[in-house]
Amino acid sequence: MAIRLVILDCDRTLWEHEDVLTLQAPFTRIDEQTVQDARGEQVRLARGARELLDALRERGILISVCSWNRADLVFAIFDLLGLTPYFVHPKVEFHPHKDRMIAALLAELAREGTVLRAEEVLFVDDNPMMLEMVRQGVGPVRTLRAQIDVLDLRDVLKYLDQPEPTEPT
Ligand SMILES: [Mg+2]
Repeated sequence: MAIRLVILDCDRTLWEHEDVLTLQAPFTRIDEQTVQDARGEQVRLARGARELLDALRERGILISVCSWNRADLVFAIFDLLGLTPYFVHPKVEFHPHKDRMIAALLAELAREGTVLRAEEVLFVDDNPMMLEMVRQGVGPVRTLRAQIDVLDLRDVLKYLDQPEPTEPT
């Protein structure tokens, strides 16, 4: 079953910074990949991030984010880097229950008429506990571990292009 929605974690997945919660607003844009906080600490997009987002959008695959963080910080960075329009129902909440965030995201899409099966969803996160929590709580979502399975975010495209495993008969 083809992937119709890709959900990205933020810290150590969409960008290299490990926890933007430690940063102080306001942020300033440095270049297309980078913002800087009030003290000069930088947040840089992960390698291949923009290429991945553009390629997914071109293919008509939905994109969202699921982040355990403060929404004001994350959305400020999205705005400065021009990322906001890429994401449908981005979930940035200050608790670790990513299974609940993704269940809510799928419910919101379903209410709008986009009903997705768990198998049509790919979740990318650097934390294996989050990947497991989402598989347990949401169903057989496909998962990739950032920094391990995915070193350059464009690797996600290679995963999408793999032939699908044939169903046992
Ligand atoms: Mg992370």
